Amino acid sequence: MPLATEVRTQYEIVIGLEVHVQLLTESKVFCGCSTRFGDPPNTHTCPVCLGLPGALPALNREAVTMAMKAAMALNCSLNSSSRFARKNYFYPDLPKGYQISQFDQPLAENGWLEIAAGGGRKRIGVTRVHLEEDAGKSLHEGFPDSDRNSYIDLNRSGVPLIEIVTEPDLRSPEEAHEFLTQLKTLMLYLEVSDCNMEEGSLRCDANASVRRAGATCFGTKTEVKNLNSFRFLQRALAYETERQMKLLESGGEVTQETRLWDSREQRTYGMRSKEFAHDYRYFPEPDLLPLAIGESWKEEIRRMLPELPQAREERFLRQYALPKQDAQLLVLSRDVAGYFEEVAKLSGEPKLSANWILNDLTFLLQESGRTFTESPAPAGMAELISLMARKTISGKMAKEILEEMVRTGRRPGEVMAENGLAQIDDPEKIRAVAGEIIRAHPKQVEQYRSGKTATLGWFVGQLMKATRGQANPQLVQDVLKEELIRR
Ligand SMILES: [Zn+2]
Repeated sequence: MPLATEVRTQYEIVIGLEVHVQLLTESKVFCGCSTRFGDPPNTHTCPVCLGLPGALPALNREAVTMAMKAAMALNCSLNSSSRFARKNYFYPDLPKGYQISQFDQPLAENGWLEIAAGGGRKRIGVTRVHLEEDAGKSLHEGFPDSDRNSYIDLNRSGVPLIEIVTEPDLRSPEEAHEFLTQLKTLMLYLEVSDCNMEEGSLRCDANASVRRAGATCFGTKTEVKNLNSFRFLQRALAYETERQMKLLESGGEVTQETRLWDSREQRTYGMRSKEFAHDYRYFPEPDLLPLAIGESWKEEIRRMLPELPQAREERFLRQYALPKQDAQLLVLSRDVAGYFEEVAKLSGEPKLSANWILNDLTFLLQESGRTFTESPAPAGMAELISLMARKTISGKMAKEILEEMVRTGRRPGEVMAENGLAQIDDPEKIRAVAGEIIRAHPKQVEQYRSGKTATLGWFVGQLMKATRGQANPQLVQDVLKEELIRR
């Protein structure tokens, strides 16, 4: 039984996230092995990432660069000195018996990311961003003897990650979803990660608690894991916070524990506490020097930052006078935003460009299983937009042409020539069709003449239908107006 709304509104939800983002470096963080995904197991390994005795780690400068970009874009202060630490625990996919991470001196701290919330915007605090290595992967399924044996793939061992920890500033599962969306957009803009959740390059755990509205101290929190899609994150948090409210309503108490989301059953369940009662015995990594970041390095990275999504959205509103919603949707992807700018500049029609890119083009690409990078060239798209803006072609024709453009990669002019989609620009041809329609519909003609000028739209529709959308729309209007009065 779901909780009654009046009960639910007596509680406030408090959520904090821990997000792991895999960095897009070509080689691993402490050795030269490739980070490529999907290759046969254990083909990208060496003494360092296998944890063999005597092997020494050497820090990958590119991983630090990417981590710095991410931290700066999240408005964090970068520490001039940060330190790597060993996080000790035993697990078969962790060959060294410890993970190199950062603990008391992280790379960066005290940042924020702005999200849309309650019709306005809200800053979510970012506690810290630190650099660490990934573990390998245990394979429990897919082998003939999987009922008895598990296997380990160490290709992922030593792949660079950043961990981003937020303050407990999120107040609903929707806000958590929005935060993750904005974070993903930001990382894609920075080109520091592909944020592919299915391949594990974006992973998220959540801390959730509830408290009586108006209370100043936090309730007992649970940690929810296994959130491997944005949808699951939102559903799991909705389930978990409601579970806690019901528990408190019935006089019970929330136990601090780790809970796993079961997407099949749509519920969270507690792990036995023994399994996560870690004492990591952190201590400084003796094989790596502290990471020193001077002002000039910071400045160098700052200059490398691209225009970030929010700045771009504000510029789109100013420069192109787009509707807010269009600007928000366009900047979600750096590719889409860049494509829009090219088309808008070439066609001189920003609003029409935004509209067609977000609607018809997106739909056609999705329908044919193509990605955005397979869009028609911006010049061709701009040509189509210009033809429409000049009313050389109707919207209906534009749709047909765009479909061909997406399918074949041809330009609008070629598509029109080949398919006989050329515009009917001859007023006499249009006049002939108009005459037939007017003769066949005396009642509508009477309505028009008696002052119901809106009937003109109906006649335009009839004429466009009769010419399969090929008549020049402006000419159609002009001719119809003349003919309706004349007869
Ligand atoms: Zn290696």
